[in-house]
Amino acid sequence: MTTIYEVEHLHQPGGWLSPGYVEVGDEGVIGSVSAAKPAGRPVERLRGFGVPGLSNLHSHAFQRALAGRTEFVTATRSEDNLWTWRKEMYRLVDRLTPEAYEAIAALVYLEMLQFGMTAVCEFHYVHHLSGGHAHANAAEMSDRLIAAADRTGLGLTLLPVLYAHGGIGKPVEETQKRFVHSVEDYLTLIDTLRGRRAAHPNLRVGLALHSLRAVTPDEARAALAGMDAMDPAARLHIHVSETTHEVAEVKAGLGARPVQWLLDNLGLDDRWCLVHATHLDAAEIAGAAASGAVAGICPLTEATMGDGFFALPEYHGAGGAWGIGTDSHYSTSIAEELRILECGKRLELRRRNVIARPDGGAPVHSGRVLFDTALAGGEQASGRGGGALVAGRRADLVMLDPVSHVLLGHGPDTVLDAWILGGTQNPVRDVMVAGRWVIRDGRHPDEEAIRAAYRTAAATLFD
Ligand SMILES: [Zn+2]
Repeated sequence: MTTIYEVEHLHQPGGWLSPGYVEVGDEGVIGSVSAAKPAGRPVERLRGFGVPGLSNLHSHAFQRALAGRTEFVTATRSEDNLWTWRKEMYRLVDRLTPEAYEAIAALVYLEMLQFGMTAVCEFHYVHHLSGGHAHANAAEMSDRLIAAADRTGLGLTLLPVLYAHGGIGKPVEETQKRFVHSVEDYLTLIDTLRGRRAAHPNLRVGLALHSLRAVTPDEARAALAGMDAMDPAARLHIHVSETTHEVAEVKAGLGARPVQWLLDNLGLDDRWCLVHATHLDAAEIAGAAASGAVAGICPLTEATMGDGFFALPEYHGAGGAWGIGTDSHYSTSIAEELRILECGKRLELRRRNVIARPDGGAPVHSGRVLFDTALAGGEQASGRGGGALVAGRRADLVMLDPVSHVLLGHGPDTVLDAWILGGTQNPVRDVMVAGRWVIRDGRHPDEEAIRAAYRTAAATLFD
């Protein structure tokens, strides 16, 4: 059985259909899209604006529990930055149980759905018990993330992280022992998780190198070769150039800036997601953009950490792919993340409409460019087969409510500007992931229980 939806306004690559008819099959894939009502078939009407679900390209789900808990200074921590924040994050890691990991992930995955994200790339590095001892089930913590994704209905591209060193030439700290694998054990974990896919159709598995600080060139090459043998199309993620400290350490240790080193030594292509990519010089911007890799910008997290600001006009202008991640989850709102990116640049450059550039005579809308670029980047980084409401793609459909205050009176030409740049109310009403409704009228059926489990977890972690 297939279902046909009549969507009042349907987002399409390069435009809208008003209305658009979308046929969704049982397997969660779009069978057809047309402007004409299919003859002799019943349709379900959906009022408002139907847009594709966005893939969030970077998440550390457990860090959601730290949001709002590190916003103060003390006499011993008057200078606060990413590295002092990391000490607080490690205190949380030291207390994190599998139950808490799942409870926090379920809450943040629910939040992502409620803001219109239909998948997440989870950069997962808390693998073991404290002291580095393996769980009885070596994939215990990964399985907790899979359970949280199943419970909420969010698509999951799981990226187990290879982490081996506490810095270039440095042993790991005590807390970091929870993160460490040999390359061999790491590839075994990936193989195990690939085996989970048969029972979890919304699961994809990719590879992540924590950073060039935490993995040697030989370890990186061995892990990539092992992944390539299992799945040559797998997505490959790495933290890169988040801070100037990291750039200096890699330059001193490996002889080149991080992105330049990757370009010269591992070769970047469209399987790669360069997470943060904040501090790039002109040659790195040109090289990374031309490689086809996607830059994984995490605007509110990077702002909260005081990392620095992505070179949006330069990277976008060079034709570079980029998308957004919510990383430490200071926000899970697509609108907030894209707004700080565009408006932060407006403040810096003292002009309006930074990302949109004229193209012939018709107006080019900033909201549309921001959303469509982040949509394509998220799809590329997650490798899910979604990212557009066209035949053959995953049926990830987000309905925006036309009576939400931010969208009142808007039509298709300006609706994305209104959502992304025009107000604060969340207009996401219904969310479909792979053909199945998981949010209706803003609500998830398991919401109360997910909140209760999170509250219990937070109480034990911060008592
Ligand atoms: Zn990260």
